Amino acid sequence: MEEETHGSMANNPFEIAQHQIDIVAKRLKVDPGIIEIIKQPKRVLEVAVPIRMDNGQLRVFRGYRVQHNDARGPFKGGIRYGPGVNMDEVKALATWMSMKTAVMDIPYGGGKGGIICNPKEMSSAELERLTRRFTAEISSIIGPLKDIPAPDVNTNPQTMAWIMDTYSATMGIAEPAVVTGKPISLGGSLGRNEATSRGVVICAREAAKVTGAKLQGATVAVTGYGNVGYNSAWLAQELRMRVVACSDSQGAIYNPDGLDARKVGDFKARTGTVKGYPGSKEIPIDKVVELDVDFLFPCALENEITSTNVESVNAKIIIEGANGPTTPEADEVLYRNGTFLVPDILANAGGVTVSYFEWLQNLRREYWTEQEVNVKLEARMVKAFHEVYDIAKKENVHMRTAAFMLAVGRIASVMETRGLFP
Ligand code: GLU
Repeated sequence: MEEETHGSMANNPFEIAQHQIDIVAKRLKVDPGIIEIIKQPKRVLEVAVPIRMDNGQLRVFRGYRVQHNDARGPFKGGIRYGPGVNMDEVKALATWMSMKTAVMDIPYGGGKGGIICNPKEMSSAELERLTRRFTAEISSIIGPLKDIPAPDVNTNPQTMAWIMDTYSATMGIAEPAVVTGKPISLGGSLGRNEATSRGVVICAREAAKVTGAKLQGATVAVTGYGNVGYNSAWLAQELRMRVVACSDSQGAIYNPDGLDARKVGDFKARTGTVKGYPGSKEIPIDKVVELDVDFLFPCALENEITSTNVESVNAKIIIEGANGPTTPEADEVLYRNGTFLVPDILANAGGVTVSYFEWLQNLRREYWTEQEVNVKLEARMVKAFHEVYDIAKKENVHMRTAAFMLAVGRIASVMETRGLFP
């Protein structure tokens, strides 16, 4: 592989995102100054989020909203809750959102938010107060034509309802288009919940087509069993693929004869984890990415496939449901070993694509059927997949580099045409 890496980036996601831009900058005829702009977020906001806990104690959480680039349209991207959230992670995720919306050619830029907290140890009332206070703190920089949040890790349609309500109350209007991934009753879109996973499975199907792999009976391992992992698992089963392993933060399970993805989901909903699912064998969480399977869907967090374990990865095709699961060093090794990888900024872009459809429905006061949504999603995913694949073939690069070439090229071209203010 001809793309060199600059030693270890210590798996800092923001340094990785910047490095991914550097790799393609060399291949594109773009003003280096434009590349410098794209490598940095346009705006970062860090806020204190003080709330009263159920026991009467006052606690202060840290929250972030990073607005990476809005050359192509309003900032767009989710808000995640978790103990591991930090500014560099949010900056990386915001950068990847700009790339994702550009790869999909939807009229958005990229942004991301996060709050450092442990949502699993908080009550629903505490999460509501946290969400509402955070929304109030960032309300001056978000808005339907400015920056539109959405769900991400540990946030869901209920969280989006609280954001919509708080923003609306603050502004004195009812504004559904300020946030996507809402409950259907509040202007959410049919199909949004499973959209990311539909995109993942469409990419798996297209990857099988271009590599000549067989889908029916193909084995799949899924890491992370949240919204993306769970829905991708049962959707893969609908294509007659066999889900043999899955994991969450508590444990991992394996059954070479296949797991029933929906039943595993029901079990997790009851018990809080996939661990202990009847008829499965428990395996170490970090062994799931090393299983000898046809397809691997990493749907957990960043840095799952790194220089440390990449030589042990056996999957022939990897579809990145998560953001940033593979480091640049690992990318090189996978490419050399002939693994076909569909990168996050394409593979998991189904979510933001249906967020775009939700926003359009809100702005136009329309309601589309689930079938309309899914047909439009399918068309956009297939088009983007083949645009990226064609670049990968023509330029003789892996799919991530091809996707970044397409994205950075599109963003840079708009920035060059708009020119520089003042
Ligand atoms: N959080 C999702 C992502 O990483 C969805 C973002 C959105 O819908 O705006 O792509």
